[in-house]
Amino acid sequence: MTPQQFAGLKERASIFRHDSVTLRAARLKKLVQWLETHEDDVVFALQRDFNKPKFETLISEIMPSLNEARYAVSHLKSWMKPTCVRTPLTLMGHKSYVRHENRGVVLIISPWNYPFQLAVVPLISAIAAGNAVVIKPSELTPHTSDLIKKMVEQCFYSNEVCVELGGKEKTEELLEYDFDHVFFTGSTAVGKIIAAKCATRLISTTLELGGKSPTIVDETANLNEAADKIFWGKYLNRAQTCVAPDYLILHESIAEKIIEKIDTLAAKHDGQNKGYIISERHHQRLKDMLDTPEDLNKKTLVTLKTDSLSHPAMKEEIFGPVLPYLTYRTATDLNALISVKEKPLSLYVFSKNPKFVDFVLNQFPSGGAGVNSLIVQFGNHHLPFGGVGQSGNGAYHGKHGFIEMSHARAVIQQNYFSILRKLLMPPYSDFKIKVIELFKNYIS
Ligand code: NAD
Repeated sequence: MTPQQFAGLKERASIFRHDSVTLRAARLKKLVQWLETHEDDVVFALQRDFNKPKFETLISEIMPSLNEARYAVSHLKSWMKPTCVRTPLTLMGHKSYVRHENRGVVLIISPWNYPFQLAVVPLISAIAAGNAVVIKPSELTPHTSDLIKKMVEQCFYSNEVCVELGGKEKTEELLEYDFDHVFFTGSTAVGKIIAAKCATRLISTTLELGGKSPTIVDETANLNEAADKIFWGKYLNRAQTCVAPDYLILHESIAEKIIEKIDTLAAKHDGQNKGYIISERHHQRLKDMLDTPEDLNKKTLVTLKTDSLSHPAMKEEIFGPVLPYLTYRTATDLNALISVKEKPLSLYVFSKNPKFVDFVLNQFPSGGAGVNSLIVQFGNHHLPFGGVGQSGNGAYHGKHGFIEMSHARAVIQQNYFSILRKLLMPPYSDFKIKVIELFKNYIS
């Protein structure tokens, strides 16, 4: 990107500050129309990139993007309206409100694992909030990244939204520009690099990162249901999902039973056509976790019993069809298995015991959580989606995304009489001190 192009985006972002709802909605509607008419192109691009099945592309790439865009169009008016807030008695005569204003030019850096929607959904939030946008999609999914570029060129002027293709070097080049916000989705390791670079210029960031998301199953859980859901969570996208169940913690009384069920489900799908593991590097990384590495090619899912957190599969985010499990006897055993790890993006618990569920939610923080359910929290745009601590910060989806991509500007406006001015002006007489003494108990 040239400095002239960047200056063009900055200029356009300042024009967007004056947007009406209609103008902004019109930009989003172009995207809706494109998504409605290019489903096959998205399916084809993802098939070429990593053999992603059509069904998975529909539910995890196209539907979330289309729903998000339609929802933004229909709620934009209420989101853009200034929000009135109360004014304390001491500031009587003022009106107070919050204006959600655009940040300016936003850089969206996206990963390969859901390469379409993880670029498009943040784009929708950024446009809804009135920003100009640069997208840097993943270099590991070239067909989808090319399609995103085409989509953007067909829907927007190049000084509104543009796509910059390339890998690490391209990101480094882009980060030399004075973006107003960087929205990064990817690994925790790269997130730290991006955050450090942005910190030198005080550029705000949203970091949507990964981590090891635990799934706890207690002795009261419905095992058939839990097994189905856990299996699907590891089947979808060949387990290359940021909110996939990374490892299991099973009550010792049901551990064998549920693993048998998961293994049976997985065996049914061995040898069938499914998504690929994205690269040779990731393939090798996964093989290194296994005693019998050839299982990775033969099996749909490899379950592994381990009683140690130092097992290779317990050291880093797995991001593939390997599922280690540990067992526990009492709820306090869980501390040693979960609290020692970083705060994950998600935490799941399968149980019919509300007290146990409460204990787990209170005891172990995570970005999001599922109770007798997993992954689908992603599909509800009324919920904020994001991490905490090492799994990231900031959140998006629906109105949360609009707010994340905006600046909440506090405005206080003098409307009628102003006792305050007379009180604040020097000299600070004894009488004024008495008035303040009186008022200080009424501050609300
Ligand atoms: P990644 O961190 O390797 O890459 C993400 C983006 O950063 C890509 O566009 C890439 O080109 C760029 N990049 C890579 N190395 C860089 C560097 N050194 N400097 C600057 N830019 C660099 O992540 P990935 O492998 O594409 O995706 C997988 C990771 O993303 C997993 O950890 C997963 O949990 C996480 N993830 C998180 C979410 C979420 O919503 N929280 C969603 C999907 C994936």
